[in-house]
Amino acid sequence: MADLTSRDHDHLWHPFTQMDEWMSYQPLVIERAEGFFLVDTEGKQYLDGVSSIWCNVHGHGHPRIVQAMKEQIDRVTHTTMLGLTHVPAIELADRLIAIAPEGLSRVFFTDAGSTAVEVAIRMAFQYWRQVGKSERTRFVSLVDAYHGDTLGSVSLGFSEPFHIGYEPITFEALKFKPPFLCAPLNGIGDPSGEALEEAGRASLAELEALFESRGHEIAAVFIEPLVQGAAGIWPQSPSYVAGVRALCDRFEILLVCDEVATGFGRTGTMFAVEQAGITPDIMCVAKGLTAGYLPVAATLATEKIFEAFRGTYSDYKTLFHGHTYGGNPVGCAAAIANLDVFEEEDTLAQAKRNADAIDDALERHISPLPHVGPVRRQGLMVGFDILADPETGRHFPTDERRGHRAVLAAREEGVIIRPLADTMVLMPPLTMPPDLLERVVAATARAITAATAT
Ligand code: PMP
Repeated sequence: MADLTSRDHDHLWHPFTQMDEWMSYQPLVIERAEGFFLVDTEGKQYLDGVSSIWCNVHGHGHPRIVQAMKEQIDRVTHTTMLGLTHVPAIELADRLIAIAPEGLSRVFFTDAGSTAVEVAIRMAFQYWRQVGKSERTRFVSLVDAYHGDTLGSVSLGFSEPFHIGYEPITFEALKFKPPFLCAPLNGIGDPSGEALEEAGRASLAELEALFESRGHEIAAVFIEPLVQGAAGIWPQSPSYVAGVRALCDRFEILLVCDEVATGFGRTGTMFAVEQAGITPDIMCVAKGLTAGYLPVAATLATEKIFEAFRGTYSDYKTLFHGHTYGGNPVGCAAAIANLDVFEEEDTLAQAKRNADAIDDALERHISPLPHVGPVRRQGLMVGFDILADPETGRHFPTDERRGHRAVLAAREEGVIIRPLADTMVLMPPLTMPPDLLERVVAATARAITAATAT
């Protein structure tokens, strides 16, 4: 163990991690997984409270999915979608179109949420050029949006603390405030019911004003539908998502829904947009697509978008984009098996029951804590803030690292969580049994108590 720690410290550089802080404590070295538990090199078990970064759906090592992957490994582990096709990609594209919102008919495979978003940016931009409206070059996104870490997706999700100084190598997106930053919510308060609807109307009014002044130069609007994840798990109402669609229709602007985090049952339906009854022009999926087992992602488009890319070679209407491992066959096989499990085990119904179970646990363990703000939950996405003073919404000083301290305390309790600064996030696999959900929530509550005691 000591050897692994020093070798990690010698050569690894961890994502979204201040490495000075990282090297000041013992890392948790995972060796394997058993169902809903991750197991470290000492054999200690930890509940996976954030689905290994929001992607695990049915727990680790589901036999059906593992078997499908093994069978595919014996056939071919990797080939390419550039100039060839393969059986699992064809099958998976069929299956995705069958469950996707009506009207999405084309699947472009990549390897990550960020690259699925890059493809969406390219599709939307090039679409307008190829239908003779090359003045439509601007993109619109929500304040505090997160769409990934490649530079196109960073441009859409540009955030002050992370991207300061990156202006010269990103493009400037036009921004509008999401409901949680509009009155009456203003970033605090209970984000539900009529308050959420009213804030949604205020956000839509801002978008409408933006479209009225600059609509003619806008190619597309990007949203994370129903839940703005990395902003802190901030919900929107379904009518809000429908309202964005209606405005895009009125001003003939493309709507791109980034379902990387919300897709595959996370918000209670297969895709969040179903709750709004809408079809985006382009939709990005990743994470839960392979049940969280392998990096396959996809950008889905309507036939209208696809048609604009057809022509002879010398028309240069081709989408000149592709990633080496996009649509990897083992990943596609995992994704197909994932969809089988959704059907065979009625995963969505289990997720709904678990949403009720987690609500109950949150109410008993988290809400009474003196240092937490209102709990936000949409499906099995939960967020709440550790606050110095919940009355006023005052945060603890950043360098006190309360969220991080809570993570380390939860680890002692055998639970893995990962916050967004002092916003605590719980995102268990959809089918984690209620007794284990109870353990995740109770351990998190004790960890927060320890992290806010002095
Ligand atoms: N979009 C959203 C909404 C996300 O939550 C994420 C990742 N958390 C991404 C895109 C980027 O996905 P990836 O990390 O797979 O590139």
